[in-house]
Amino acid sequence: MHALVQRLIDASHAYPAEDGSGDVYFDVRSWPSYGELTRQSVDEMQDAPDADPRGKRDPRDFALWKGHKEGEPQTAAWSSPWGTGRPGWHLECSAMATKYLGDTFDIHGGGLDLRFPHHENELAQSAAAGDRFARFWLHNGMVTFEGQKMSSPWATPSPRRRCWIRRAPKRCATSWDRRTTAPSSTTAQARSRRPKRPWRGSRPSWPARGLRSCGARRAARRIRRGHG
Ligand SMILES: [Zn+2]
Repeated sequence: MHALVQRLIDASHAYPAEDGSGDVYFDVRSWPSYGELTRQSVDEMQDAPDADPRGKRDPRDFALWKGHKEGEPQTAAWSSPWGTGRPGWHLECSAMATKYLGDTFDIHGGGLDLRFPHHENELAQSAAAGDRFARFWLHNGMVTFEGQKMSSPWATPSPRRRCWIRRAPKRCATSWDRRTTAPSSTTAQARSRRPKRPWRGSRPSWPARGLRSCGARRAARRIRRGHG
């Protein structure tokens, strides 16, 4: 990641913030192809929301490296040639993709909601650094559950939540215990240690089908029937 930032600085497509914050920004005005993936012109874009705009040359410049700020955890700060900090969101993906797949690879996929700014910025910083990057971009629509994107915590009931909803006693209590506390002697004790259900009062209405049993029970049944 450091090497990629340095290549962009050397090519005059990135600059350390002049306010001494330790941030490093990609200079969108220096890259004429910026916006090609989502077919937008820079002038029509909104400001990047991911960093304090103080040290930016243009409000649409996005962070490659973010200087450590007071109050942020020390465990999320690493030394760099520009000061202690952490990589920007987009930088990690470009660095990982080219490290493991090479400077040119076939397909970059992702949800439609990542086209901008994430994939646009990935492409810009990689191409500006001299990588060919992805030949094709493949974007999928959102899988929804009761009108919400499935990645939303309410729209993706985990097996444990499904079990709680149904108040299935033994299997859920056992798995909860294994993760968080010493083994319990009774299910009642395990129940009393569970945190309060976070959706109380605002619990969405779940469809009955599909929530009748948790995955572990289904698997156990399959094994008993000789299908596992
Ligand atoms: Zn990514």
